[in-house]
This record gives sequence, C-alpha cells and structure tokens, in this order.
Amino acid sequence: MRILVTGGAGFIGSHLCERLLDEGHDVICLDNFFTGNKRNIMHMMENRRFELIRHDVTQPILLEVERIFNLACPASPIHYQYNPVKTTKTSVMGAINMLGLAKRVRARILQASTSEVYGDPQVHPQPESYWGNVNTLGVRSCYDEGKRVAETLMMDYHRQNNVDVKIIRIFNTYGPKMAENDGRVVSNFILQALKGEDITVYGQGEQTRSFCFVSDLVEGMLRMMDRPGFTGPVNLGNPTETTILEFAKKIIALTGSRSRIVYKPLPADDPKQRQPDISLAKEMLGWEPTVAVDEGLRQTIEYFDSVLSAG
Ligand code: NAD
Ligand code: UDP
Repeated sequence: MRILVTGGAGFIGSHLCERLLDEGHDVICLDNFFTGNKRNIMHMMENRRFELIRHDVTQPILLEVERIFNLACPASPIHYQYNPVKTTKTSVMGAINMLGLAKRVRARILQASTSEVYGDPQVHPQPESYWGNVNTLGVRSCYDEGKRVAETLMMDYHRQNNVDVKIIRIFNTYGPKMAENDGRVVSNFILQALKGEDITVYGQGEQTRSFCFVSDLVEGMLRMMDRPGFTGPVNLGNPTETTILEFAKKIIALTGSRSRIVYKPLPADDPKQRQPDISLAKEMLGWEPTVAVDEGLRQTIEYFDSVLSAG
C-alpha cells in the first residue's frame, strides 16, 4: 500500500515509517521539520519505497495514497507552547486538510490523538468513555483543545462524508529518537543523569504518568489501522503507573548516576495523574504492551548515551 505519514520525521513518526517500510509498504513522509529531525529519517532515504515531502499540514496537498497516519503536531509542552496559535492551527487545519484528502482519494485515516483530551482527569484510570476535564483557557489548551477538535472533525467527516476514520489516544510514549531538547520528562531525566547534572523534578514529584515504549505503541497503531469497522477512540499506552519522583529514582539507578534530585515549580495545569484503561485495546485489537519499563529505559539510555558520545 502507499501510506502517508504526516509528522514522519518526528519521534513516533520515524519509528512508524521504519516499521511500514519493513512490512513492504511505500511510505510518503510529510513534515515541516518544526520538531522533526532529518537524522531520524536519513537512513531511510536510500530506500526506493521511501519519499520525503517538506510541507506544512496547515496547507492543503493532493497525494494519491490509500492510508494516512496523521501525526503532525508538536507534542512536548515547551514545543507546543512556543507558538500556541500555530499549534491549534496544526491540529485543526491539519485535520481538515488530511480529512479532505482522505475523502477525495478514499483513503483510510488514523488520527494521533492524546491522553491530554482527558485534561487533569477526575476519573482514574481513564477509559475512552470519560469526557475529560480540560481547562479551555490555560497554557496547555492550544494542544488539548486542538486535539479535541481534531477528534470531532474525524467523527463529523465520518458521519457526513463516510470517511473511514480511526482515532487513537496516545499516552506518554518514550524511546530512542526522542528529541534531546524537547523538555519531556524521559529525555530530561536521562540526559541529566548521564551528564551528572541535577535531576529536575517539578512540584513534589507526586504526579503520576504511565510510560509506553515506542515499539509497543507502533504495533498498536498498525493493529488499529488494519482493524475494519472500528473508529475508536482507543487508548494506547502502558498501564504501569509511576510517580515522577519514583521515576527520577529509577533513572538514577539504571544509569548509575550520582545526580541529585532538585525540586522546581510545577508548570500550570500539569495533570496530577494519568493511567490508561486499555481494556478496549485488548478487546478490539488484541493489543497490550510487551516491553517492560526497565527494558525500554535501558534501550533509551543507550540511545542518549550514543548521542552524547557523538557530541
Ligand atoms: P514530535 O514532535 O517528535 O513529532 C511531531 C512531528 O510533526 C515533527 O516531525 C514535526 O516537525 C511535525 N510537525 C509539527 N507541526 C507540523 C506541521 N504544521 N506540518 C507538518 N509537520 C509538522 O512528537 P511525537 O512525540 O513523535 O508525537 C507525534 C504525534 O503523536 C503528535 O501528534 C502527538 O500529539 C502525538 N502524541 C504523542 C505522545 C508522546 O508521548 N510522544 C503522546 C500523545 C500524543
Ligand atoms: N517533569 C518533571 N521534570 C522535567 C520534565 C517534566 O518533573 O524535567 C514532569 C512534568 O511536570 C509532568 C511529567 O513530568 O508532570 C511529564 O511531563 P512531560 O512534559 O514529559 O509530559 P506531559 O506532562 O505532557 O505528560
């Protein structure tokens, strides 16, 4: 099949492109390189089934494809808050343009939505039936509300125009090829630990997250794309929940670092708890994560170590 991956030069997108090529598909990677990196995709450039298009999803484009994975959107709080108006445009205009394309060429489209649609959740763990608790006015809203509207557009194009849509809600995902400068907790803590710098825990570190290794996520994405008659939304994440303080201690132990833990102010609207309920993914996709957090972190630490040694 010919498959379009928007945001294909980013962290998750580049892993997805690799996997699709391995499965024998033709892959078009579309990216504006806002947070993506050519280093993530260089090794695929020699493959004749791989094409790269520098393009911004806020602008329309016509391509002959059978499947679209719509991932284009900065994902880390510092990147999506850098130009918040553009972040909302990317989610909303990007979804409209990609849905318009899907409608025109009759492609199936999968939207990379997020656990952020649940906001600071009052239901725990979060099932797909929970409507969420999002502040419309806060600094995270450009991302959260943009992604919520993108979900709405998916369902409206489905009902109104019969577009074949799929929605996945991705929970915190980590692994090799995360950007070093994106300020997310996994890259921050590992880099700080490897460099012997202070580990910056925001707040008291009592907030929780549940971390999913990227290969598990990609497997779930492919299963969802291939699953007929199911629009989702479906949660994809690893239900193993940890406090951020425990997580900092784990990174120190796994790296053998002598870094100290220091406490910094908690960013506004930082969700207090997050854990996916993955019953629906198990039932509909036969999917659950297989990579234990220690193993995934070992591979991620190895990756950042090699990035640091390469200078
Ligand atoms: P990333 O920042 O590494 O990748 C996003 C990619 O989109 C980058 O390559 C970037 O250059 C590209 N992009 C941004 N704006 C664009 C635009 N206007 N036009 C074209 N390309 C554009 O982030 P990621 O972690 O790989 O996230 C990928 C997707 O998964 C995003 O949609 C994100 O919201 C979603 N997601 C990720 C996580 C996570 O934990 N990583 C969690 C929930 C949802
Ligand atoms: N966090 C932290 N120190 C850091 C970076 C993040 O304590 O150096 C915390 C952050 O406040 C949040 C959690 O780690 O509670 C996850 O943050 P991240 O930015 O990775 O993702 P998100 O908040 O979007 O889940």
